[in-house]
Amino acid sequence: KDPLLRLESVSKHFPIKSGLLQRTVGHVRAVDGITLQINRGETLGIVGESGCGKSTLGRTIIRLYEPSSGKMFFKGKDITHAREPVLRQSMRKHIQMVFQDPFASLNPRKTLKSILTEPFIAHGLYSFKERDRKVEELLEKVGLNPSFSNRYPHEFSGGQRQRIGIARTLALNPELIIADEPVSALDVSIQAQILNLMQELQSELQLALLFISHDLSVVRHISDRVGVMYLGKLMELSDKNSLYSAPLHPYTQALLSAVPVPGRKGRNRRERIVLKGELPNPANPPAGCAFHTRCPSAEARCRERQPIYKEVKRNHFVACHLYE
Ligand code: SF4
Ligand code: MG
Repeated sequence: KDPLLRLESVSKHFPIKSGLLQRTVGHVRAVDGITLQINRGETLGIVGESGCGKSTLGRTIIRLYEPSSGKMFFKGKDITHAREPVLRQSMRKHIQMVFQDPFASLNPRKTLKSILTEPFIAHGLYSFKERDRKVEELLEKVGLNPSFSNRYPHEFSGGQRQRIGIARTLALNPELIIADEPVSALDVSIQAQILNLMQELQSELQLALLFISHDLSVVRHISDRVGVMYLGKLMELSDKNSLYSAPLHPYTQALLSAVPVPGRKGRNRRERIVLKGELPNPANPPAGCAFHTRCPSAEARCRERQPIYKEVKRNHFVACHLYE
């Protein structure tokens, strides 16, 4: 059976323009050759530092950006060039996105009811009367009082707004939701509520979730599998338990060494690996392995040849010469 979504070597490069004539002088390889799949009903976490391309990846999947190269398949169907309005319209129904700041995407002059009715109108769904009932259903699903439907976005707290953002993504019964840092702007106490809500909805509605975050603990909490990005590339991807308990890639090892492990104290603590240097400029990434300028295990070949991203154990993918 085809996976829900499959990416084959997908890249998104942005031109860098310069001078009076705005000539293209180079490219930022925000997403650079990503291959992955998302299965029905699973949560795939994507983690990485800011600027690693994880948001661009999400936005490319939902077609806020056109991919520069590579192929994308939804249930086996090639959607790489989903420019045609019909295909695009139908993709909107299947894939939806939750943003970090839902407030920015909620029209301040519209009531909740009209915000949540918009997708129905755009897709010609339900009768006038049914729409009211559907709005109430959506609000209930995300734990908001249906009587709120005549209020405006500014009347709600950050956590409630994120619930509204989630309600809106659910309006069209999507099969995949892309959530880009959906709890990063919220207080820690609210974060857990929203994460739990997303998990409940996911199992209730059999949704697949692509969960993008810089926060390793949050990703661990919610994901089935986790991918680690660095400078536009996937460095490692596997099921959550092997990634967190036995990371293979030196970058993942370094990231995880900075996260306290519950129950491990004193000498059992993981030794902290401090990365040298800064994150390189994505417009000018290092040759060979993109991580070699900061990798504690770098060897001569790492500067010369890019490691191939491949499956080194069952369902455990890594791009590193140490495993070739
Ligand atoms: Fe480090 Fe080399 Fe592996 Fe890159 S390929 S992560 S530089 S050991
Ligand atoms: Mg981002």
